[in-house]
Amino acid sequence: MDRYCTSARGDAPVAQAESAKNGKKLGPTGRPERFYPVPEELDSHGPARIIALCNQKGGVGKTTTTINLGAALARYGRRVLAVDFDPQGALTAGLGVTAHDVPTIYDLMLGHEKDTRAVIQPTEVLNLDVIPANIDLSAAEVHLISEVAREQILASVLRKVQDDYDVILIDCQPSLGLLTVNALTASHGVLIPLACEFFALRGVALLVETIDKVRDRLNPQIELDGIIATMYDSRTLHAREVLERVVETFGDKAFDTVIGRTVKFPDASVAAKPILSYAPENAASEAYLQLARELVLRGAVA
Ligand code: ADP
Ligand code: MG
Repeated sequence: MDRYCTSARGDAPVAQAESAKNGKKLGPTGRPERFYPVPEELDSHGPARIIALCNQKGGVGKTTTTINLGAALARYGRRVLAVDFDPQGALTAGLGVTAHDVPTIYDLMLGHEKDTRAVIQPTEVLNLDVIPANIDLSAAEVHLISEVAREQILASVLRKVQDDYDVILIDCQPSLGLLTVNALTASHGVLIPLACEFFALRGVALLVETIDKVRDRLNPQIELDGIIATMYDSRTLHAREVLERVVETFGDKAFDTVIGRTVKFPDASVAAKPILSYAPENAASEAYLQLARELVLRGAVA
């Protein structure tokens, strides 16, 4: 993980001291707050940049970030396809889409359905579509093990619709198995959500190693786009310490945008809506809009 440590080790205290001098307001990462302008409308669409949301730890905000970043980018006029790549189907359910008696990502992966477009469903959010998943997907790894080019199947499934979208977000399952390797092989970038709690960084070195292996062996273009800190509660010293460690470890790869902890997220999941529709006035809605703007400014999304 060393190469992610260079630029910012100790950045936060330096930034703090400097900003205290010139009176600039600091963001939660300890860096001076930056302004992220609303991105310009796109004149034309596609081909999509494909981004995997990946962390083999469960409950860190992968699905929540896929839903809400997707909705935020859609709000800015980007055409977004969200791919549910977890047999739990939480992304599908969270977007109010049914995966019952319809073809899913499993059928595409197994080749039962060859037309990717036939599996895509619209959501209630303009510009945001989804490829649903259900529990069938849990059997996919076993079936794929003997397939030719088994790591490249998702890439070929998504290639067929890449020109229809500006960004494709893949919500990975909490493991580093064959499905996740498929997601990494299909992607241009990876976003790692990290919850600001005990052991947040545990396992991230292994994840970065996996990304490096995929880059070496399967997908030379893959980049780590960044680390997004989630479930941040500024009132607890512990969360502040975890965030400090994340910034220390990843430097510039840690996004300025931090997602706060709020019960509105579980509530929004029950309502099967992105937070932007469920609680537009909540600070968390603005946080995901800012994350979308930060990604555009960093060039991770058109
Ligand atoms: P993952 O996909 O990594 O397993 P989820 O996005 O499903 O994680 O989040 C796990 C749980 O935490 C869900 O119940 C979700 O509603 C909740 N959650 C996610 N982000 C936040 C947040 N910022 N604040 C509070 N709860 C959150
Ligand atoms: Mg999930």
